[in-house]
Amino acid sequence: MHVGTEAQMRAAVVRVAQAMDQAGFAPSKSGNVSCRYRDGALITPSGLPYARMQADDVVEIDLQGRVHAGAGKPSSEWPFHTTIYRTRADAQAVVHTHSPKATALSCARRGLPAFHYMIALAGGDVRCADYATFGTQELADNAVRALHGRKAALLANHGVIAIDATLDGALTIAAEVENLAGQYLALLQAGLEPAILDDAEMARVADKFANYGKL
Ligand SMILES: [Zn+2]
Repeated sequence: MHVGTEAQMRAAVVRVAQAMDQAGFAPSKSGNVSCRYRDGALITPSGLPYARMQADDVVEIDLQGRVHAGAGKPSSEWPFHTTIYRTRADAQAVVHTHSPKATALSCARRGLPAFHYMIALAGGDVRCADYATFGTQELADNAVRALHGRKAALLANHGVIAIDATLDGALTIAAEVENLAGQYLALLQAGLEPAILDDAEMARVADKFANYGKL
């Protein structure tokens, strides 16, 4: 991702967290946002309303979750952020939402099949990670498994994780997952069986995304 000053990166974390909240993806102060910074990460704080969040509230942690001296309390979901950064070299930013439609689907413990080509933004079909209690290492391990080869996963009975090379990219993927979840739920509600795009077609779409830009 673009490497800015610490102040610029803190401001970017707040900007993306507030955009996530304004999109309605973070009810009841849920969700969290982070980006890699030095050998650790900058992550949104625990329990602070997004509208009041300032750059100085963003918490610097190392990849074991230890808080940088003098900082506040990191989001309770820090374990999956640090586990993703330890295991996914391609992840420079993580956006975690409780966006309504994708979260509803996660409560059925179902992922999103490749029923629309835009799912290529997430690297292919979106898996639903096995359930574990929020804030636990077990949840982090389940999430990393579901994210294998992908840039998004659902968390059972919980929400969505999106990762990318930039904060804005991760938010875009989280928004597309919410959009696709709405379409998928509409199909299910109508009793319609979606036609699934095969691997060869998804590979063509991925190639076009890579070579000609998105959309
Ligand atoms: Zn959550």
